[in-house]
Formats: sequence, structure tokens, C-alpha cells
Amino acid sequence: MAGMDIGIDLGTANVLIVVDDKGVVLSEPSVVAVDNRINEVIAVGNEAYKMIGRTPKEIETIKPMMNGVISDYDNAEKMLRGFIDMLGEKKGMGKIVMPRIMVSVPSNITDIEKKAVEDATKQAGAREVLLIEEPVAAAIGAGIDITRPGGHLVVDIGDGTTDVAVISLGGTVVSDSIKVGGSRFNNDIIRYIKRNYNVIIGERTSETIKKDIGSAYRRQEERFIKITGRDLTTGLPKSITVSSFEIMDAMSESVIQIINLVIKVLQDTPPELASDIASTGIILTGGGSLLYGMDKKIAEMTGLRVIMAEDPISCVAIGTGIALGSVDILQVAGTI
Ligand code: ADP
Ligand code: MG
Repeated sequence: MAGMDIGIDLGTANVLIVVDDKGVVLSEPSVVAVDNRINEVIAVGNEAYKMIGRTPKEIETIKPMMNGVISDYDNAEKMLRGFIDMLGEKKGMGKIVMPRIMVSVPSNITDIEKKAVEDATKQAGAREVLLIEEPVAAAIGAGIDITRPGGHLVVDIGDGTTDVAVISLGGTVVSDSIKVGGSRFNNDIIRYIKRNYNVIIGERTSETIKKDIGSAYRRQEERFIKITGRDLTTGLPKSITVSSFEIMDAMSESVIQIINLVIKVLQDTPPELASDIASTGIILTGGGSLLYGMDKKIAEMTGLRVIMAEDPISCVAIGTGIALGSVDILQVAGTI
């Protein structure tokens, strides 16, 4: 199919793709598996994710995105190419020929980092590449008309970073970012269990703990989960049971760091826009915002209303798709 428009959320943890008006058609982890003997990518996305921690020595799993930007150019390009091919093969869209692609990028990215995204997307087969700032895309995806005057505060808790931005009239007025997000929560959990139980757990186990019993706000009822790791003394598998209260404590410092950033951005926001935000509230997006009680904790510490985007994981991608429908207006507004 020619003349197609594709929107991509090129995330650290996940890549989401929207096509024309079909909504999100692909959502895969940002991972590639490389066979070092032939120097070729042998799997991308979910298929590569399953290989993490399980590969023979010739095969390596690589995450080509770090903290929202490309950290491994060649593999980022191959990953994108793989995903675009996947659209044609698996999603039955026929061969994807030279699409126009809009990619979301963090607000405070350098020109060099921007160019890397542009070049990799072109190399992966784009006819034209448009970049949009992530918080702007997130706001659009959350249903906000960003071309009107009026401030909105977007907090995007991703995997590697949390990005906080005040947007108005289609652009970012104030923004800041911190290298704390979902993967930091996982590391907090891994470290806590190692210290307190002398047990080593892997990334996927910590992810399960976080999603099942983790929290930013104290749950009414304590919950428990049984997990298995490796006993550091014996080197053998060992099962332990951990509680939601312990895990909340283990992650609390990182949660506070995120909220302190939100407060800092609010303090740096011009008064008129701050007053808008006081009435519109804070928009919460990104997979990390799904941590239990995150919205409540932010509301409590800032005194502001917090609105969780309807689909926090897809919000940015959905926004790129909507933005592709009004490229002309957004170009005039200077948004893209
Ligand atoms: P990025 O844009 O950086 O790729 P995402 O917005 O896709 O990141 O969010 C990915 C992060 O969200 C991961 O760290 C993941 O563990 C976390 N996450 C996803 N679902 C949940 C959940 N239900 N509870 C807590 N964290 C979650
Ligand atoms: Mg993201």
C-alpha cells in the first residue's frame, strides 16, 4: 500500500505503531536479537524479548533505545525496519511502501539525537519523517486540543525516564526530565530482595512483582506474592514470599523523585499557565503511571487533580496518529 501514514512511539521499553485510522496496530518490546556470527538481526520485538537471559553465547539481545533516545543506531534502524515489515506480513497490510512517518521524541532531546531518529526512520523506509514532542503527542492522544491557548501539564512515566512538560498553544513551555521510571522501580525491587533475602531475581520477575503488588500509595490491604530466585549463598533456586508494603517502601524514594520533579516544573511555570493547570489538572501517561496509586500519590503531594489518560501506554502513539491527520495545522502552529 502506498501513500500510507504511520505514527510511531519509539519508546525505551515499547514501540507502538498506528496506521492511518486503524489505531494501534503493533505494540512490541524495543528489543532485537543479534546473531554475532553472521552479524544479523534474527528476531525483533516479542520474539527477541523472550530470548532475554536465555540466549546461547553467539546470540545477543540488545535494547537499542535508552532513556528515550537511540543508543545503538544500527540496531534501532533494523528494529524499525523489522516492525515496518511486520505490519505488512503479520497485520496483512500488504507491502508497506515508503510511508510518511511521524515519530515522537522527548522534549529536551539534542539536535544530534533528533537527527539520529530522523535518519534511522528514513533508512528503515520512510518517504518523509516528521517529529513530534512526546508530551504534545501524549496530550493530543489524551483528547486535548493543544492548539488552543491554555496550559496543560503532562507527566509521562516511561521505562527509562519520566518527562514532565507544560504545553500551551501546541508547544512545550517548560519541561524537565529525570532518569527515573519503570525500570528504576524494577531495580529498586531487585536490590531490596537481594539485600533482605539474599536472593537474586531477574528483570522479568521484578516486573511481575511490580505489576502485581507494587504501589506508590499504601494499599488498604496488604498483598503477597511468592517468587523464585537464586539463593546467593547456595547458588540454588529459592522461593520467597514478599509483601506489598515492603515493595512500596523499596520503591518509595524513586516515586518521590518523580513527584519532586513535577513540583519543580510547576514552580518554574509562568503564573497564568500555572493557574490553568490548577483548573485542568495533571495528565498522567506512560506505562509507569499504571503503578498502583501513582495518581493518588501525585494528587496528594501536589494538591492538584490528576487525570489518568484513558490508555496511558498507547496515548503517545494515538497522539501521533491524530497529529498525522492535521499536519498542516500543526506545522503552522510550530508543533511539528
Ligand atoms: P517507554 O515509553 O519508555 O517505552 P512505556 O510508557 O511503554 O515506556 O512504559 C513502560 C514501563 O511501564 C515499563 O517499565 C513497565 O514495567 C511499566 N508498566 C507497564 N504496566 C505497568 C503496570 N501495570 N504497573 C506498573 N508498571 C507498569
Ligand atoms: Mg514513552
